[in-house]
Amino acid sequence: MGPKKRGGARKRKNEDALSRDKEEEDPEERGGRRRRKNCGNKYIGAHVGIQGGIWKAVESCVEMGGSSFALFLGSQRSWKRPALDPTAAAKFQEQVSLHGFDPAHILPHGSYLMNCGSPKEDVFEKSQALLVDELSRCSLLGLNLYNFHPGSSLGIITTEQCVDKIAASINHAHQQTPAVVTVLENMSGQGSTVGGKFNELRSIIDKVRDQTRVGVCLDTCHAFAAGYDLAAEGGVTAMLDEFDKEVGLHYLKAIHLNDSKGKLGCNLDRHEDIGKGHIGISAFRDIVNEPRLENIPLILETPGRPGFEYAEQIELLYSLCEKK
Ligand SMILES: [Zn+2]
Ligand SMILES: [Zn+2]
Repeated sequence: MGPKKRGGARKRKNEDALSRDKEEEDPEERGGRRRRKNCGNKYIGAHVGIQGGIWKAVESCVEMGGSSFALFLGSQRSWKRPALDPTAAAKFQEQVSLHGFDPAHILPHGSYLMNCGSPKEDVFEKSQALLVDELSRCSLLGLNLYNFHPGSSLGIITTEQCVDKIAASINHAHQQTPAVVTVLENMSGQGSTVGGKFNELRSIIDKVRDQTRVGVCLDTCHAFAAGYDLAAEGGVTAMLDEFDKEVGLHYLKAIHLNDSKGKLGCNLDRHEDIGKGHIGISAFRDIVNEPRLENIPLILETPGRPGFEYAEQIELLYSLCEKK
């Protein structure tokens, strides 16, 4: 703040200058303007709803103070959805640029209906078609990342056979659609799901023809439930080191920030609010201060509780940043 100025006209002039400064934000930050200045290049946000129109997701994220977000691309109940309305898609893109989001910080989440590794031929075919449809929606929305759960063998086929089917689905979708990067999420190891262990993610990636279009999103709750001990001292560093060894850090495109209701290695996919579960707050402090997690979306998928919804959890995470 400069020295105090007197006089109405002078004051107005200063205010004009101030608002002009605001408009002319740092050009370096274009495309990533939503970065919070006190937290390095961390883009913390949450999974937001699309009720009332897909473009509303953008505003919901802004309202909760997020710098990144995830969203579903349609109903979670139906295999066949009406085509994405081009007007809605244009409105979404308008909102994205209006609020200064970089598309690289927006991570659509795939439909839960899909099982791209299914041993059941009809489900496998429907999943392949839905994957293509969802990637096309991403393109229409101007987005280049798409996160989904790899799949499950249902205990009917081997993990290797399931991995083959998942990779085939990805290769098929890549052929049918342009550019979008398919981002595999690590799983909790519940049931016969594939992708709980980092080496399973690696075997899928190995079979993808265009490896520039494949990546991984690490879900902290899933990792902990699968046995990666984030609650231990240095647990975040150890997990990332292991990920780097098994998969390669350059494949890491996003993090899902969730505490865990279940204990280490429980294989249960039960998300808990940040700091309220078995992972605990110090792992999240390490995450928001981890240089290897800069410039990627860090997305909450926690249940939320009164007074501790996404907005408060985003605020808490930013307050843990030590880099000012
Ligand atoms: Zn998920
Ligand atoms: Zn997740």
